[in-house]
Amino acid sequence: MTQGQKALEQAKALVDESDPVATIRRLSSLHPGRVVFSTSFGMEDQVVTDLIAESGAEVRIFTLDTGRLFPETHSTWQATLERYRMPISGETPDAEEIGRFLSENGPNAFYESLEKRKECCRIRKVVPLRRALEGHGVWITGLRASQSGERSGIRMTEWDEANGIVKYHPLLGWSTEEVRQRLRDRNIPYNPLHDRGFPSIGCAPCTRAVQPGEDERAGRWWWESHNGKECGLHAR
Ligand code: SF4
Repeated sequence: MTQGQKALEQAKALVDESDPVATIRRLSSLHPGRVVFSTSFGMEDQVVTDLIAESGAEVRIFTLDTGRLFPETHSTWQATLERYRMPISGETPDAEEIGRFLSENGPNAFYESLEKRKECCRIRKVVPLRRALEGHGVWITGLRASQSGERSGIRMTEWDEANGIVKYHPLLGWSTEEVRQRLRDRNIPYNPLHDRGFPSIGCAPCTRAVQPGEDERAGRWWWESHNGKECGLHAR
């Protein structure tokens, strides 16, 4: 059995699908100081932050501060900090690398080609993510299976080979309505863009509102024709 398989089996044994709060506590006991949560301040992530707060477990929370986020996302970040009083670190792109990309390609090069879009995501998201996950044993995310066809095959606990870490998706089986219900029940701060047709919120120039009936991630990189609306954070 590889190290990754062993770590995954250990984590799986601690997961109670109906009790994410207890699961977070157990994972944190298994990996003291080595559980990490990446938030985009989208509504799913706000629910996960609330679960972490309820658990009282030691979980490091960070966000990918890409430099292109919506002002509404920054306001949600501020409101989250004030509500929970848990530190949230902002992981920023390498200044030299982003500086070079900008001077060679300009600020909106992601509209020109898939390669440039992926390079922008790599610099602003994938590399900072890798840096933030380093040395940790469990990565909690707010992914849900019903967000897109791409995500429907995800399991609640997975081994992420690219980052050498176990992933835990406590909201995997939740519906949009269950997420919204928890936001209401617990008065959790959330991004106001969700009420303006944005189910999924990423960088401002690369996210638009969706029409009723469209896939939840249809508003991400909408000018691209391929089906994989992902930025490389959740490589599968
Ligand atoms: Fe760049 Fe857009 Fe990717 Fe953000 S989502 S990192 S702006 S290409």
